Amino acid sequence: MEALDAAGFLPALEAQGFQQKFGAKFVRGNEVADFDFSDKFTSGWSQTWQVPRANFDQVLADEVQRMGVPVEFETEVTAITFDGTNSTTRVTTPDGSEKEIKARFVIDASGYGRVIPRLFNLDRPSNLPGRKTMFAHFEDPNRFLFDEPNRITIISHRPDVWVWVIPFATGQTSVGFVANPSFFNEFSGTRDEKLRAIIQSNDYTNQRFGDSAFVFEPRTLEGWSVTTEKFFGDGFVLTGNVTEFLDPIFSSGVTLATVSGHKAATLVCRQLNGETIDWQKEYVAPTQQGVNTFRSYVMGW
Ligand SMILES: Cc1cc2nc3c(=O)[nH]c(=O)nc-3n(C[C@H](O)[C@H](O)[C@H](O)COP(=O)(O)OP(=O)(O)OC[C@H]3O[C@@H](n4cnc5c(N)ncnc54)[C@H](O)[C@@H]3O)c2cc1C
Repeated sequence: MEALDAAGFLPALEAQGFQQKFGAKFVRGNEVADFDFSDKFTSGWSQTWQVPRANFDQVLADEVQRMGVPVEFETEVTAITFDGTNSTTRVTTPDGSEKEIKARFVIDASGYGRVIPRLFNLDRPSNLPGRKTMFAHFEDPNRFLFDEPNRITIISHRPDVWVWVIPFATGQTSVGFVANPSFFNEFSGTRDEKLRAIIQSNDYTNQRFGDSAFVFEPRTLEGWSVTTEKFFGDGFVLTGNVTEFLDPIFSSGVTLATVSGHKAATLVCRQLNGETIDWQKEYVAPTQQGVNTFRSYVMGW
């Protein structure tokens, strides 16, 4: 929230009426561990939002353009050459033509695209096990039959399988199962049939979503745990998922992406204004501290 505030995004986000998020609930059978964000040891925000990502990302893209920053949609980076800290980036535009962009510094925020690690062979495997998810958005007419219907709820389905339930203000809810890839082989049929059967195999999701309509066809994602040899170099810095991606159990991804993006941008501005930046101390150390804090919970879970 601090990073979104610093970038001037809060008024536009507040105007969306997104579902407010005041905490999170972890459920295993009849056991419930409920976390209230206002019950904390430091000052700061006690609330954030539960957002459909497409809408959230569009609001941010619209806002930066309104602030005067050009955004090139459907434009793919295919190559980068560095000359000291200066660089030339080759991109393919929506009409298939190519062009070059000169820059004094590159912030790589390409997520799973992992542009710089792939182009410069910096990828290395994460120490987190491979995971797979199957998810969809559902109509959620039964939510008010449940305690705290708008609370984000994480369900422990089996020791190695968990479920996210993220209600949106639209009346629709994101539901996804995360497991070792082999779990999904226990179910057969089309994607719709598979996710329906998985939903019906858990008491909570069956009662709430057993007969609910899908908003879109279920999707799968797999093998997202990967990290990189370095977080910065001459003329570039990596942010968000390009650095590392943790299992999404604690919804840490957007926080880590926005905080690292904000920190990187602040340091790049200072460097371009002539300051010497100790990137290891000022960027890598605090970013890794954040990632490792969440990592300890992910490993514990
Ligand atoms: C199953 C699952 C569930 C998740 N649940 C949550 C959750 O509940 N809460 C949460 O906070 N996080 C969650 N996350 C994590 C979250 O989605 C990511 O951590 C977050 O989106 C990372 O942001 P980012 O900006 O680093 O990358 P992204 O959001 O992936 O953005 C990268 C951008 O770069 C662009 N790009 C990629 N390659 C290129 C290229 N070659 N040229 C040009 N552009 C390119 C992409 O099109 C995209 O626009 C989840 C992730 C998964 C897989």
